[in-house]
Amino acid sequence: MKIELWGVRGSLPTPLTNNEYQLRVRSIIETALTNSSSKTSIDDIIKLLPSHVSTLYGGNTTCVTVKSRKGNLAILDAGTGLRPLGDQLITEEAGEGKLTANFFFTHTHWDHIQGLPFFKPLYIKGNKFIFNSPIRDLHERLNYQQKFKFFPREFDDTDSVKEFNQLKLNESFTIDDSLIVDFIPLRHPGGSFAYRFREGEKSFIFSTDVEFRGNAVESFTSDHGDFFCSADLLILDSQYTLDEAFAKFDWGHTSYSMAVNCGINWKVKKLVLTHHEPSYSDEKLSSIYSDAQEHMNASAKAAQIEVPELFLATEGMVFDI
Ligand SMILES: [Zn+2]
Ligand SMILES: [Zn+2]
Repeated sequence: MKIELWGVRGSLPTPLTNNEYQLRVRSIIETALTNSSSKTSIDDIIKLLPSHVSTLYGGNTTCVTVKSRKGNLAILDAGTGLRPLGDQLITEEAGEGKLTANFFFTHTHWDHIQGLPFFKPLYIKGNKFIFNSPIRDLHERLNYQQKFKFFPREFDDTDSVKEFNQLKLNESFTIDDSLIVDFIPLRHPGGSFAYRFREGEKSFIFSTDVEFRGNAVESFTSDHGDFFCSADLLILDSQYTLDEAFAKFDWGHTSYSMAVNCGINWKVKKLVLTHHEPSYSDEKLSSIYSDAQEHMNASAKAAQIEVPELFLATEGMVFDI
């Protein structure tokens, strides 16, 4: 299956500020002036830049896609990352009203639904969307977000076909005989759900908006058996530094140190840190990633396991597993 990241920012959309942009421009010019010679190419200069200068981690809120080997599309959450996804989809079959796709919702906090009114395929006749979630009144909640007093076009008044499917705990859901989906509930204000996608021997788990803390990893592992264990790819909430996680106890998010502990404990193969705190600059996220990698290396050595691959969630990132 192919997993693609369209929105990785937590809580609310976070555009790059003018000040941050100017600091980047300054850093790029300084690097170029210091290192340029007649033989230096632009690509050479780009390689010299720190990653927080050469890369924009992204300001759109949560949206991730899973494409099965047969080409079926699943969309996880509808944060503002859904808008660029929709813009791409309408250049393909969704533009002709021939797309069928499954949505899966972790929960309905704003940052996970606010992209839906701006998802162009929703307005095209012939497209069909199945809205899956354990949330009993999901349809009512999505309608409520798009009431006329909040948005000019109501959700039920859009032209695509919409179906709602309430998922049940311990019952898996299969997309086109190939992609098996199940879920577990998570600790988060108002509740949230982690989804697991399995295709053949491979597994991908999406677990955002969850607060793991203290010895929760061990107890959670014993409560939920092998849900997380040995995942080929785990995208996990890691919104805070450890200090901020202590200050924001019960806010429903995990520190990056704890996220690494989870990845080690569950022996995942690839761990992706996501739901970046909106007040953190890319420079801070870059230093968090370095610290997390150091913690990962030390923890894997202590546990005598192979070091899982670690990634900082970045818009446009693609994984083939
Ligand atoms: Zn969130
Ligand atoms: Zn939330």
